Amino acid sequence: MTLVVQKFGGTSVADADRIRAVADHIARTRRAGDDVVVVVSAMGKATDDLLHLAEQVSRTRPGRELDMLLTSGERISMALLCMALAERGVAAASFTGSQAGIITDTIHTKARILEVKGDRLRAALAEAVVPVVAGFQGVSSTRDITTLGRGGSDTTAVALAAALGADRCEIYTDVSGVFSADPRLVPDARKLPRISFEEMLEIAATGGRVLALRSVEFARNHHVPLLVRSSFTWEPGTVITEEDPSMEQPVVSAVTHDTSQAKITLAGVADRPGIAASLFRHLADRSINVDMIVQNISHAGTTDISFTVPLDDVAASRQVAESMLEELSAAEVVTDEDVAMVSLVGAGMKTHPGVTATMFETLAAEGINIEMISTSPIRISCMVRSAVAERAVQVLHRAFELGSAHS
Ligand code: ASP
Ligand code: MG
Repeated sequence: MTLVVQKFGGTSVADADRIRAVADHIARTRRAGDDVVVVVSAMGKATDDLLHLAEQVSRTRPGRELDMLLTSGERISMALLCMALAERGVAAASFTGSQAGIITDTIHTKARILEVKGDRLRAALAEAVVPVVAGFQGVSSTRDITTLGRGGSDTTAVALAAALGADRCEIYTDVSGVFSADPRLVPDARKLPRISFEEMLEIAATGGRVLALRSVEFARNHHVPLLVRSSFTWEPGTVITEEDPSMEQPVVSAVTHDTSQAKITLAGVADRPGIAASLFRHLADRSINVDMIVQNISHAGTTDISFTVPLDDVAASRQVAESMLEELSAAEVVTDEDVAMVSLVGAGMKTHPGVTATMFETLAAEGINIEMISTSPIRISCMVRSAVAERAVQVLHRAFELGSAHS
């Protein structure tokens, strides 16, 4: 018997019609003979609305209470979906993250899953009941309700798939798969029928908003094949699995862009051992995810350190940096939110030199200045002004012939 986890994102359950369409699909899957565990996000923009409400009520929003508030969004969609399933004669029962046995650490609003017990889900499956689980939430080791960070329902789905030994995890969303670039910017962007976990990790980390980064990490570590599909058209989507060693890997698979990062520069920092260690330790202690780091050559014993952080973490990062001005003998902290990162991702880069040169030449020919660069074996990222990011994506997509005209 095949067990599939089906996760439906916010747009997929945004209103009553959508919830009924999703229930129809689950009923079809059951009729085909598969066992299903369902994970749902909050309806539409419900999570954003709850956050706005909290902002209006108070400037002080303790993480514990924020999590209690935000988890209510998923409770609404799971209960409504179970009602729609009941009308279709499909036995279903809703479970909060806590009821499903999703145990997390105690870091509110960014909790990590420590363990998935899943006993009640297994019991439901054994009785031919479809468990419908609230995404994005768990219960901490100290028994408080936690959330897994924005977009965390993907992680819930993958974690359940791994814990229950599901054959695959299907992520239903409002796009039909993973594309060679954002189709809103690049009309001839191509849907990728299949990509590797490694490529998907880089795509998710560099602005490809289809899947939350942590869910892809989890899927790779636990060998859970993923399928990304549209719940609007139900057409075949993108399969994300282990790299197929028998196949030649594409040199470049996708161009991504990310405008959700800011650049923070500490100017005039003392150039001596321990400075970077201390700065990045303090940032890490605040759970701030630093991405690119550049340190310039030193002039007369001082240097500049620039790094990028998510826009949401700018205020906290600035606080950390400013509190350390004296310790670092730094002159000032400068934040710059008008930056964007443009990246090329492709498993074949490992064995094809010259991709970097072509990328830089393509941007140079457009007069686009590169402010920071970082690479991995299968990715090259350039920080540029956010105003030119879209053009950068378009010219790179063309230069590497990624469009449907070339497939
Ligand atoms: N509802 C949560 C959010 O909007 C979790 C999710 O949708 O994955 O971030
Ligand atoms: Mg989502």
